[in-house]
Amino acid sequence: MSDNDFLPFALPDIGEQEIEEVCDSMRSGWLTTGPKVKQFEAAFAAFISAKHALAVNSATSGLHLALEAIGIGPGDQVLTSTHTFTATAEVIRYLGADPVFVDIDEDTLNMDVAAVEAALSRGGNVKAIMPVHMAGQACDMTALCRLAKDAGIRIIEDAAHALPTTFNGKRIGTIGDATVFSFYATKTLATGEGGMITTDDDAIASRIRTMRLHGISRDVFDRYQSDKPSWYYEVVAPGFKYNMPDTAAAVGIHQLARLQEMSGRRREIANRYFDALADLPLELPVPINMDDEHAWHLFIIRLALGRLDIDRNRFIELMAECGIGTSVHFIPLHLQPYWRDKYELVPGDFPVATATYERLVSLPIYSKMTDEDVERVIAAVRDILTTHRK
Ligand SMILES: *Cc1c(COP(=O)(O)O)cnc(C)c1O
Repeated sequence: MSDNDFLPFALPDIGEQEIEEVCDSMRSGWLTTGPKVKQFEAAFAAFISAKHALAVNSATSGLHLALEAIGIGPGDQVLTSTHTFTATAEVIRYLGADPVFVDIDEDTLNMDVAAVEAALSRGGNVKAIMPVHMAGQACDMTALCRLAKDAGIRIIEDAAHALPTTFNGKRIGTIGDATVFSFYATKTLATGEGGMITTDDDAIASRIRTMRLHGISRDVFDRYQSDKPSWYYEVVAPGFKYNMPDTAAAVGIHQLARLQEMSGRRREIANRYFDALADLPLELPVPINMDDEHAWHLFIIRLALGRLDIDRNRFIELMAECGIGTSVHFIPLHLQPYWRDKYELVPGDFPVATATYERLVSLPIYSKMTDEDVERVIAAVRDILTTHRK
């Protein structure tokens, strides 16, 4: 088989307009944060219906800024899921605080609300909850908001997968104290690297605006726009260098305009997988509310290992032999050496996440996939799982 026949696990969907807009930035000479970032932020805020949208250079930096803005610091604890990418938890450590990991719900792979409640009732010094909307399906925000309100703590959402996603008709990005989206190359809106924070809270927005660019009170673009001398600025805190360049916003503006169309294609592919894979020894994703939008960033199947004579790793190898890329989202953090050793975590503390991890596979799902690509994935999964059915 030639390399051309390999179907990658993920690919961005970049159109000519995105390319033209980047060229326009290049020609204009304005490469760093400037007019295109402002335009992208305004369009994003309007799309989400959030008061503020703040562009940054990754979701990781956005999560760091959001936690910093609500005052997380040494000695504080932040509740999050063990079933996530390490970025969710590492930003807690950046601030000298400690994550408290909770187990997941087997069907949604989202934080188990009962586990959150149990963790809160153990006392400690929990200051915030960081829900992760796995694969693009919202967490139970009604329950999490109630728990946060009762405990007097904040909610910072990791919405790296959740664009566009709704929960009971409300768009993710409008519910928690702040919500962070990722525009990493594989995400549903891709700028290569990039992220966006949405919030309705003026104090959070103001702090993030300052801290994302060196703790300077006005960003570079504003300096060239206002009446004050252009050389003058004030440093009010030891901030970070987390601003988004205009070249990334150039891509984002057109990706956002095409988001519903790209998302529609992902939904079509998901529906085709639901139809074509339902009779196999596996469990399909479990949408909780059919009226809600699911971003379908990932399509995660769970193999029914008891009915198969192969394990998940062998399944991934066999898919690769068919020329199809797959992946695993995620290796739970309690199994990663740093987190495991630092907090003395054992698999038995996270029985659902531990057992589910062994069965997870993410199938390709992205708007650039053709119908033939989708049918090829289905044929390979069907062939492997019927051949290896016990
Ligand atoms: C991709 C991802 C991130 C990090 O996003 P970046 O933009 O690459 O920093 C954080 N959390 C989750 C769940 C992700 O999948």
